[in-house]
Amino acid sequence: MAVATRPGIVFDLQAAGAGGVAGGGSSGGARVGRLAAAGGGVSFDTPSFVAQTSRGAVPHLSGDNLRDHTDVRVVYVALEDFVEKSHPNVPVYNYPSTLRNFISHPPNSLLVLAPRRSPPVTTATPNTDASIAILTSVGFRALKVEDYFNAVSNLRPDIAISPPDIPHQEPGKIRRPKMVFRTELWLGELINRNTSNTPIFAPVLPLDIEQQSYYLNYLKEHISSLSGLALYDARLAVDLPHDLEGLPRLSLDEALTPHKVLQQVSWGVDVLNLSFLTQMTDAGISLIFQFPGEVGGKKEALGADLWNKEYGASLEPLAVGCKCYSCRKHHRAYVQHLLTAKEMTAWVLLQIHNAKIVSDFFTTIRESIARGTFEEDCKIFAEAYAKEFPEKTGHGPRCRLPSLNPRNAPLIRNRLRGYQFKSEGGAVKKNVKAFNKLGGDKKEALEEPETPPDIDTEELVQGGLAEISSG
Ligand SMILES: [Zn+2]
Repeated sequence: MAVATRPGIVFDLQAAGAGGVAGGGSSGGARVGRLAAAGGGVSFDTPSFVAQTSRGAVPHLSGDNLRDHTDVRVVYVALEDFVEKSHPNVPVYNYPSTLRNFISHPPNSLLVLAPRRSPPVTTATPNTDASIAILTSVGFRALKVEDYFNAVSNLRPDIAISPPDIPHQEPGKIRRPKMVFRTELWLGELINRNTSNTPIFAPVLPLDIEQQSYYLNYLKEHISSLSGLALYDARLAVDLPHDLEGLPRLSLDEALTPHKVLQQVSWGVDVLNLSFLTQMTDAGISLIFQFPGEVGGKKEALGADLWNKEYGASLEPLAVGCKCYSCRKHHRAYVQHLLTAKEMTAWVLLQIHNAKIVSDFFTTIRESIARGTFEEDCKIFAEAYAKEFPEKTGHGPRCRLPSLNPRNAPLIRNRLRGYQFKSEGGAVKKNVKAFNKLGGDKKEALEEPETPPDIDTEELVQGGLAEISSG
């Protein structure tokens, strides 16, 4: 159907399902297409997904594992992951080669660069006309938009998302127009300064379409300079102007379950940023769903918690019928043994498997849309599977901490780091000290209560609390 060639990106919109592009009226509706880097190299079918990275790596996977054992074709990299020093000393700004070389990323997947993680951690300070507030590994900082533009020019990612101005609180009457103004201003600057011809995805703000109609007109006028849209509210895919239909739509609106993925696909999203992939792997849960599934008596679970003792002697693969490396070579009991031993390979095997289940999920979604049965298949899936993932029960892939208190030994605590972390400005430290002074603190440790005030890791991860107090 519509083939749109933009700087660096070719997007071929091939077919649309119910209420789709061919139907007229609305720009929503599930659709299939093919997205390719213009120079050849990487290409993949949509709808598809983006794997998130932590400091440039898909968690638990080395570059060769990612290349050889997964079908991940797009990864999302946040610049804030690399800005831990004051400006002249930030290596990523001065790096003489590309982002791909900087993070040693394999050549078979596209790199999307954005200023912030997705979803971003709430910051203590607001954005300004010239900077956005970010969270680095050493606390909250301001990232000058100019520094981001320079980073895009120097690092030449496969796709750069123009910085959006999104406040951490629900914006009021005055703040909303300012969001639109700044986002348009920054996009204009990025387009003007894009000497490296990096494909640019324009952000679409989480506001009503009417509230950003001037900005959307601006996008229409500059469509030849754009390669795609980054939606911060996936529902907007339904109401986007027709002129923007040919642009691929990347959703940065978190889809928390496979059901939410289907919903976003039905709105017309092409590429989804999935965080549940790594969250489930961290929790020791192997994904076991298929699309559309079979309607039986009882609803099937979306995942199997491999910490569960019932899998202690199970020689089954992580999911029945799965053809991934982990399922071909190992079984559930082995992965449980590795989990219990806190052996990192457990999470490597789980991540390879979970990525395969998600890839297969999207493959069957595309087939379903192309067949024209997507709507019915979604109903079957809703009937066949539980609404939520199973509760997390196990420990994550974190380190052991020796306790100074003999009564508590061996004390094993999970430390929260990097992508596992959701924090907010002004919150107190959440991880216990790894080391104490031998003098005063030892006495304090000996007086620790019988049951140490344990940290509810899962609640922290979900609820969003902080450790990193800004320096
Ligand atoms: Zn598998």
